[in-house]
Amino acid sequence: MEIDLGFAEKSDDAAWLSNRYFPSKLGGQPAWLELDLLPSTSQMQCSKCQAPKSFLAQLYAPFEDDFNFHRSIYVFLCRNPDCQGAQSAGNFTVLRSQLPRKNKFFAEEEPSDVGGPLPSVTGPKKLCAACGCHAPHACSKCKAIHYCSSEHQRAHWPQHKPNCGASGGSTAKPLPQIVFPEFEIVMDSNPIKSGEEDKDDEARLAEFQELEASGKTGDLSNVSGAEMDKYFGNNTAADDKTFRQFKKQTAAEPDQIVRYKRGGQPLWITNVATTVEDQLKELPNCAVCGGARQFEFQIMPQLLTLLEDENLDWGVLAVYTCAKSCPIEGYVEELLIKQDIAAEEQS
Ligand SMILES: [Zn+2]
Ligand SMILES: [Zn+2]
Ligand SMILES: [Zn+2]
Ligand SMILES: [Zn+2]
Repeated sequence: MEIDLGFAEKSDDAAWLSNRYFPSKLGGQPAWLELDLLPSTSQMQCSKCQAPKSFLAQLYAPFEDDFNFHRSIYVFLCRNPDCQGAQSAGNFTVLRSQLPRKNKFFAEEEPSDVGGPLPSVTGPKKLCAACGCHAPHACSKCKAIHYCSSEHQRAHWPQHKPNCGASGGSTAKPLPQIVFPEFEIVMDSNPIKSGEEDKDDEARLAEFQELEASGKTGDLSNVSGAEMDKYFGNNTAADDKTFRQFKKQTAAEPDQIVRYKRGGQPLWITNVATTVEDQLKELPNCAVCGGARQFEFQIMPQLLTLLEDENLDWGVLAVYTCAKSCPIEGYVEELLIKQDIAAEEQS
């Protein structure tokens, strides 16, 4: 089974990660594709605490058709400790954006990487000095710098104060409570090295998960020994098996932070827990075309080690997007399912 794996690499110059170069990246500010119709401030707000969500990562993942000549998927999340829920992705937002080759923002030819990086491509919309999202508010004193929210204006004030009103912009340092450390995500088409035996294991596991998702396995304690053997070899602990599978599949490349397999299956970290299973069963269709969504990529727990944020935790973040990647304007929301290793709390 062929899968693209993503690895974090520190860039020698973050300017190479601007939207001009269509990056896949982690942290920093988002590199926007469509520059006219940026997601609104309210769309970027946590529904629980109202705080602006932080940009986590984006993948550049174009499709074959012309309206997907450029295509990026963005993941945002609220970092407030009170908004982190086990097996719940309520504090996440996934956005899809795309552009045809001929568009009003970017040249049709790929930008040259000879010489130093060129500045980012700007559109008509102002961007927040703190987070890089759409910024409808200006600093009331100098009107030269913009913010998405009063929250980010306040957070940014100590840094902006000495420059407020001064001519010539100063390069802002990213605020660590708002912006994650910035890395390029380098994708590597890497056939997973695994023997036939492993593939069989994986196929069996996928088969089981399908059965389970359709509610056909019922209570595991009623499954006969032969059935169990079919799905799990001699191991009777389903959770343990999934976790071992997860470890086995990632052992060869322990630094992978992203697994990309459009139309494939996520590599779950534990036997699909009930709430995740329910979410999969009721996976809503694309809000634009009404078509089915499919798995596109997952973010791995290894990525957590790069974020420098003790409040965040997850096992797997599985992103589901419109299978057709239908034509859209601006940014549309897609879906994320979060699976944690910790057992669900039984109420
Ligand atoms: Zn929140
Ligand atoms: Zn902001
Ligand atoms: Zn100012
Ligand atoms: Zn669609």
